[in-house]
Amino acid sequence: MTMTDKKYPGLYIHVPFCPGKCPYCDFYSFIPKGDIVKEYVAETQRRLKETDLCFDSVYFGGGTPDKIGADNIKLLLGCVNFTSGAEITVECNPSDTGRENSAFDFETLRQAGVNRISMGLQSAVDSERRKLGRLSGVKEVQRAVEKIKSAGIENISLDVMLGIPDQTLETLDETLGFCVSSGASHISAYILKIEQNTPFYRMREKLNLPDDDTAGEMYLHTTGYLGAHGFKQYEISNFSKPGYESRHNLKYWRCEEYLGIGPAAHSYLNGRRFYCPADIDSYLAGAEPVDDGEGGGEEEYIMLALRLSEGLIFEKYEKRFGKKVTDEAVNYAKFLESKGLVCVSEKNISLTPRGFLVSNSVIGGILERNSP
Ligand code: SF4
Repeated sequence: MTMTDKKYPGLYIHVPFCPGKCPYCDFYSFIPKGDIVKEYVAETQRRLKETDLCFDSVYFGGGTPDKIGADNIKLLLGCVNFTSGAEITVECNPSDTGRENSAFDFETLRQAGVNRISMGLQSAVDSERRKLGRLSGVKEVQRAVEKIKSAGIENISLDVMLGIPDQTLETLDETLGFCVSSGASHISAYILKIEQNTPFYRMREKLNLPDDDTAGEMYLHTTGYLGAHGFKQYEISNFSKPGYESRHNLKYWRCEEYLGIGPAAHSYLNGRRFYCPADIDSYLAGAEPVDDGEGGGEEEYIMLALRLSEGLIFEKYEKRFGKKVTDEAVNYAKFLESKGLVCVSEKNISLTPRGFLVSNSVIGGILERNSP
């Protein structure tokens, strides 16, 4: 094996703190109080020092990682062994980092090795941002983007939300236009999902949400708009300028290894899945991760591969599982091709943007026919 063949795992660090709680969010996060940030950083340092792995991607997600401050992020990165070309991402919230008097220092992040920032824009229309509970306006997002760029970090990803209450194709265009003109290199665009146990779930009848057809139209409009502005779709919800795909997130979809540290962080290493429970107290008390069984099996591999524009690559599947995708599955994919949902070539099966819209049933149908 040459050095270039060597595969390194990714590292995910979950930071469970947020400046407030958005009414649609069911991620594990809360407003930090007392000494909790200090304790979290100390425990995370301890856990990071325990691993002797070397990583080629590090991703600080949350929650809102900037909530622990740039110096603490630097401190944590100081405990991580990563390759010289590693992709190092920090998720940031414009309400903390884009305020005029914000002390958050992107320069410190860059010096620590951070080379990618992912920012939760969601919408560039302030009335929509308010409905989503965002604590900042688009002006703060703009300011944060400028600060990131002047610190020398050029790889910026923006999250966009589709199907927001009262959103129209016109307001969506405003948001997409903002993304393009901001100089972002990567866009993630998700259709709002109303999760149980969130305020949005309880208010869902009163939210004036676009119906499924309109949300689908928004999705297809987004794929077209971003495609026309140089962003290639490489996953159901992810678009990038050439060469700016998220290397860390690609590991999840390609069933490659990663270690997760922090409450609610999941891992996949040596064929096993395991996770830290979503509970800060047990995390701080040093609780061991919980085993979640075998991972990376055929079904999971196909499900994840079909989320990607590169799709299910026959050669990779055969190499990994020592067998071919069944004729029945390929023939069914050809049938779906005639409906405009899938493309089938000698090398792969991949979903079209219309296929992505109904990915659950398309992928389910292919999986069913690939069973022994
Ligand atoms: S900032 Fe992000 S993680 Fe925090 S509550 Fe809002 S959506 Fe959830």
